[in-house]
Formats: sequence, C-alpha cells, structure tokens
Amino acid sequence: MRSGGRDDADVIVVGAGPAGSSTAHWCASAGLDVLLLDKASFPRDKVCGDGLTPRAVGELARMGVGTRQEDGWIRNEGLRVVAGARSWELPWPDLDSFPGYGMARSRMSLDHRLAQHAQASGAKLLERTKVTRPLLDERDGRVVGVRAQALDAQGRADGAETVYRAPVVVAADGVSSRFATALGNTRRDDRPLGTAVRTYFRTSSDDGATSRHEDAWMESHLELWDGASGASNLLPGYGWIFALGDGTANVGLGAVSSTPARQSATGHDYRAMLQAWLRNTPPEWGFTAENQVGPVRGAALPMGFNRSPLYADGAVLVGDAAGMVSPFNGEGIAYALQAGRVAADAIAQARTRATDDARERTLGSYADRMRADLGGYYTLGRWFVRLIEHPQIMRICVRHGLPRPVVMRFVLKLLSDCYEPRGGDWVDRVIAGLTRVVPAA
Ligand SMILES: Cc1cc2nc3c(=O)[nH]c(=O)nc-3n(C[C@H](O)[C@H](O)[C@H](O)COP(=O)(O)OP(=O)(O)OC[C@H]3O[C@@H](n4cnc5c(N)ncnc54)[C@H](O)[C@@H]3O)c2cc1C
Repeated sequence: MRSGGRDDADVIVVGAGPAGSSTAHWCASAGLDVLLLDKASFPRDKVCGDGLTPRAVGELARMGVGTRQEDGWIRNEGLRVVAGARSWELPWPDLDSFPGYGMARSRMSLDHRLAQHAQASGAKLLERTKVTRPLLDERDGRVVGVRAQALDAQGRADGAETVYRAPVVVAADGVSSRFATALGNTRRDDRPLGTAVRTYFRTSSDDGATSRHEDAWMESHLELWDGASGASNLLPGYGWIFALGDGTANVGLGAVSSTPARQSATGHDYRAMLQAWLRNTPPEWGFTAENQVGPVRGAALPMGFNRSPLYADGAVLVGDAAGMVSPFNGEGIAYALQAGRVAADAIAQARTRATDDARERTLGSYADRMRADLGGYYTLGRWFVRLIEHPQIMRICVRHGLPRPVVMRFVLKLLSDCYEPRGGDWVDRVIAGLTRVVPAA
C-alpha cells in the first residue's frame, strides 16, 4: 500500500459474492472509499447448497444483516444425518461463540441482500463490470488497480475498457479467481477439492407432495442409494436437502478428494448420480421432473487454503479465491464472510501506518490471522478427507461411531467448526487443542 497518487478508491473489491460484499461492507464501515465490481447484475444465481451454519449466522449478525423470520429467513436447529434406514438429529451446540441456530437462503436472494448491505454501508457497487486483469505498477509489478470491461445485458462488451486505481485490490472473484491466476497465484495441487451439483424442487403441500420446504433440520445423507435398477447400489458421495421455507428445497450431492488429481481421476458423473439418487427418494417428497425448478448446476469447492499467499504486493485474496471452503463439510460462506472482515481490518489498520514497510506488514497480518484461526483446523480437515475418500472407512465410522452420543457430539462440533475456541466442555477443549498442535495448513 502506498499513499498519494490519483486513486479512484481506497480499495477495489473484485466480485460481490459473500467474500466481496463482506470486505466492502467492513471497509466502508471503517470509512474507506470502496469500489465493488461484479460482472453480474443482482439478483443473480450462484451454485450452492444455500445452507448457513451457526458460524455463518454469527458473521451475518456481526455485519448487522437483519435475519428476521418475517423477512424470509428460515432457521434450523441442527443437522439430521441420514445413513440408509437410520437417522440422527443433532441440535446445534449451545455455545458462547456462535448462535444456537443455522439458516438457509437461496444465493439468488442472499448475495443480493449482502451486496445491498455493502452499498448501504457506503461501498460503490458497479454491476455488469468484469475485471479483465490486474493493473501493475511498471516499476515493481505491484498491483495498483484493475482493468475492467462494462458488459451489456447479454454479457457482451459494452464500450472500451476502463482503468480503476487503488492502493489495495481484493480478489473475491470466486473459485476460478482469474485475478489471482493472472498474478501467478494458481491453485495448489496438494489441497482437497470437492465437486457438487444441485437443483431446486417445489415441494409445498399444494403440489400434493409432503412438504420438504420447511424443516427444522438441515438434512445430510451419508449413503446415497440407486435403487432404480432393481439391485440397489451405493453411490459415491454425500447428499443434502436444505429447506428454503419459500415452497422449495435445495437438493444436491457432492464428493471430495484429497487432491484435484484424485478428484478428476474419479470420473464421476455427478448429474447422473443425482438423478439416480432422486429416483430412489420417497415419491411423497415430490422430487420429480415436474417439480424441478431450474437446471442441475455444478461447481468445484476449493478447500483448505488452496491458493497462497493470501496477501502479496497489493493483492488480497478472500473466500473461494483463496480456497477457503472447509474440507470437513463443504461450507464456504462463513469463511468468505470472516475473511472479508479480517481483510478489511488489516486494510484499515494499514492506512494508519507511516511507512511503506509498516503498511505492507500490516496488510500481511491478514494472512497470519487467517492462518492462525483456520490453519490447524484445515490441516485436520485434509487428514479427514484422506480417510473418508475410502468408502469402507466411512462406512465403518457411520455404522460403529455415529450411533454413540458422545461421538455424535464430537463429530457435529468438529464438522461444523462450531466449538468454543477457548474454554467450553471437554469436546471443545479436545478440538481446540488438536487445531493448535497440528501444523497450520
Ligand atoms: C454445489 C455447491 C454447494 C455448496 N453449498 C454450500 C452451502 O450449503 N453452504 C456454504 O456455506 N457453502 C456452500 N458452498 C460453497 C460456497 O458456495 C462458496 O464457498 C461461496 O460462494 C464463496 O463465496 P465467494 O464470495 O468467495 O465467491 P462467489 O460466491 O463465487 O462470488 C464470486 C463473485 O465474483 C464475481 N466475479 C467473478 N469473476 C469476476 C470478474 N472477472 N469480474 C468481476 N466479478 C467477477 C462473480 O460474479 C461472483 O458474484 C457450495 C458450493 C457448491 C459448488
């Protein structure tokens, strides 16, 4: 970060998903001039399960995003784990550090809400503005802004490219992060990668279906059976049904591998797997072609900090651009929101430093803080993925481990990253202790 010069903003944020809108909100709240650019116009769809754990709800509360039920937010009280004919309901833990409930909201609506929230905090949002590449200082290669292309309603280039300058640019442009890639910060091949597909179903009672659109539990299926061919087959992967409370449910499945190479080697056809699983769901749920809303869409889940460094030479990486999805459960929204908050704090603090060196060190503290908070947890997550990518191990754990209440409590806290980092009960202390003794990812 350098002072002076003719900048268009104090900080430019590329991408207005949860990571970008959170960064923009927190930077604007600290009094910075923020330019938030997104190639889409809101509301826009984003492939996701739409599930928000208590960790994500806690971040929304910090941001001051209203989540009243009368405004269309649906709450859930825990996780229902289904494995074959058995199921267990695991309430979210009662903790000081997180709310006692989760939520779900379609990304079409959630992301629009978050972008509006950033605007209300003072950020300037430019929609249909695609960042084409970083702008570099000719002398030292430092990022000093972006080149951007305005798009028309069909997504075609509209006019000439524009240059926007700022002393710090935040890459919040999602899993592919063309911005980070253009800076040579490519995806690491030693981190887990998930792939998942999802669609929506109308499932209100008016359709004659047993409604799955209102459910006090986020439902996770550990065994997916394809019974269509007569002989039932166990499909690789895990499924979910997340009630959205608006007459629809988000239904999807995915799988995770310990490295991108192993993930592509599986060669799974996730769309076909979803169809096979859905054919085998109870007819009263109404998961039929007639009730399907929108296509089946899929995307990758970048996990365990699969891009690093998180800060270098004027560019900060947040959310999926930095591969912040949890290897334990595929959750990325909470971490995207958290990264935006921590990055904004470092950016605001850096402005108070008198020298270039001190400003650089302060910006770099963002990476240190994220690593200190999540590095150990992500390392455990990488080991977890190495275990569960062997279906036999997973089945033994489900059969013999999960039914024990103490194991269940431990698993819920570990997988949802909802434990007291300091204090708490012995489960909290074991998890927190483990995250501290393992090397940070
Ligand atoms: C199938 C699936 C299910 C999932 N389920 C869940 C779940 O239930 N709960 C959960 O917490 N997480 C879930 N995740 C993960 C979650 O979706 C991501 O972690 C989260 O969206 C990350 O937010 P982000 O802001 O970093 O990126 P994104 O949400 O991808 O936002 C990136 C933004 O950048 C914009 N952009 C991209 N390129 C440019 C450019 N060149 N110029 C301008 N703008 C640009 C895009 O338009 C977009 O708005 C799931 C992911 C998948 C694929």
